[in-house]
Parts: sequence; structure tokens; C-alpha cells
Amino acid sequence: MKIGVLALQGGVIEHIHHLKALHCETVEVRKPKELDGLQGIILPGGESTTIGRLLRETDIFYKLKEKIMNGFPVWGTCAGMILLAKNIENDKKNHLQVMDITVKRNAYGSQINSFLTYERINKVYNGEVPLIFVRAPYITKVGNDVDVLCKVDENIVAVRQDNMLATSFHPELTDNLQFHRYFVNMCSNG
Ligand code: GLN
Repeated sequence: MKIGVLALQGGVIEHIHHLKALHCETVEVRKPKELDGLQGIILPGGESTTIGRLLRETDIFYKLKEKIMNGFPVWGTCAGMILLAKNIENDKKNHLQVMDITVKRNAYGSQINSFLTYERINKVYNGEVPLIFVRAPYITKVGNDVDVLCKVDENIVAVRQDNMLATSFHPELTDNLQFHRYFVNMCSNG
């Protein structure tokens, strides 16, 4: 199983470590041709505006978008979720626009920029998992084809739409591997 992590900016190495712990081969993707031969890709957290700009500058943008539209498994964490969203409520700039969700950037405001909570997400794991939010977005609207996996305080923070997974939080910043295991399963079935 070979899984890529988009490595233009943001928290790449933590995802690589979790994937390696699950015995995956990993590729840090910085060029379009590095998308070839992968079974899936993670778009990490970071700064969505910067990653979105670099996606275009490196010419990864259209190749990645087309692959995702053809069923390539993808998981966006935090900024990665913003990159996947069709609409961004508080930003004029959209990015890949492949997932039928509307997100709100920095939705938790400046008071609580980061926090940790524990939730049971039955479709992912039969037990509580730690969720770390860092200047996180949440989802304000979902289309009919989107499965809501988790809400925290009534806000949607994890969703799946076919081959696409998006989370507001950062499983790679915890030592819990359950979300990565769920995504690796998506990649092996896809
Ligand atoms: N606030 C960032 C953005 O809007 C996302 C933060 C993160 O990825 N941890 O792009």
C-alpha cells in the first residue's frame, strides 16, 4: 500500500509517521508525477491559502482534481478539508472544489484557537478517539451525498463522500492510529 502526503506546506511528517506505523509505503508529493502509483493521498493541515497557491504553481492542481473526481481516495485534515470544499463561507478563494461541503475557516475564533476533546465516532472506531483542533474550520452545510461522521457541539467536524474523507481536526497530532487505519482501508477498497 503506497499512500502520498501532499508536502507543499504544513504538517506532513506526522502523517508520514502514522502511515508508516500502519506499514504503508509513503511518498511526499511535491510534483505532479509523484501522484502516479499511489493508492491514496492525504492533504495535511497548514495554511489553506498557501497550499492552494502552491498546488497551482506546482501544476499538481488539475491532475489531483481529476484523479479525485475519478475515485482516487483523499483525506483532507483541517486546511486539507478547506482545499477539498466546494464552498468556503468566509473566503472568496476556492480551491479543488471536489467535495459537496461548505466550510467556515478559523470557525472557532481567536479565543479558543486550539483544543482537545474525545468523541466516539462509530463508523471509524468502536471507542473514543482524541480530537485535536488547531485554528480549525468546521462544516456549515453538506450535500445529500455526504455522510456526517462526527459533530462536536452541534458543529460538523468529520465527513465522508464516497472516496473523500475530511476532518476539521488532526489525528496525526495524537498517538491514536484509528483515523489513519480507516483511511488506509478506504485506499485498499478504492
Ligand atoms: N486556519 C488554517 C486555514 O484556514 C487551517 C489550520 C490548520 O490546518 N491547522 O487554512
